Amino acid sequence: MFRKILFLLALLDFRQYNCGFIGAFNVITIALSKGRIFDETLPLLAAAGITPRESPETSRKLIIGTDRQDVRLVIVRASDTPTYVQYGAAELGIAGKDVLLEHGGTGLYQPQDLQIATCRLMVAARADFDYARAVQQGARIRVATKYIQTARQHFASKGVHVDLIKLYGSMELAPLVGLADAIVDLVSSGGTLRANNLRVVEEIRPISARLIVNQAALKLKRDRVQPLLDAFAAATTRRA
Ligand code: ATP
Ligand code: MG
Repeated sequence: MFRKILFLLALLDFRQYNCGFIGAFNVITIALSKGRIFDETLPLLAAAGITPRESPETSRKLIIGTDRQDVRLVIVRASDTPTYVQYGAAELGIAGKDVLLEHGGTGLYQPQDLQIATCRLMVAARADFDYARAVQQGARIRVATKYIQTARQHFASKGVHVDLIKLYGSMELAPLVGLADAIVDLVSSGGTLRANNLRVVEEIRPISARLIVNQAALKLKRDRVQPLLDAFAAATTRRA
């Protein structure tokens, strides 16, 4: 009797993660980060008929069920999203192009530009730093960024000599305290740059969030994955 109750409790516990006995292999997991990406994805999820049971802002849960038995969300660090999808821990994910460029995209399909979380990847420097002149003179420029791969490629393609310094956040500080001459960072309104006496000296590329799909899942679970891809595509077209 006691064991039976334990078994039922275990089943109930599974159900809140949307993966009961029968469901476990049928559930589609979508990886996304909280904050901007989650907020801007909500309307697209709604259009696909998916409503999360909780908000990651108020809940501490990292696995969030939805009103659809066959869909659950996992909340991950923005830069970890491609990794979860690459290894199949999530079939789908939503990640910024900035993050995807750094990751490299191995094992991923990127079928849809969702046109959310839009911003630009920029080179910025202190207002009193003559970037153009430094480039012209072939000087080595110290650049702080969390986008090492993308920055390396960008400067190499322009023939600009750089020493790259890896940071994990608050890049704007680096030129102000002499850690770097310039930064590579995302800019939307430019407010943070202005507030810190920095200015854009070069645009690298526009950035937006993409739907990403595990390549194996698209083949093996196409019957369940494809309708979600179609729903996201339709929702994105409607929004445009
Ligand atoms: P963490 O804060 O955990 O270090 P993060 O800064 O990458 O990670 P977010 O700030 O939530 O996390 O950014 C998530 C994604 O949103 C980024 O990868 C980028 O694609 C996009 N993004 C970042 N900054 C902006 C911005 N200012 N405007 C629009 N989109 C942005
Ligand atoms: Mg951030």
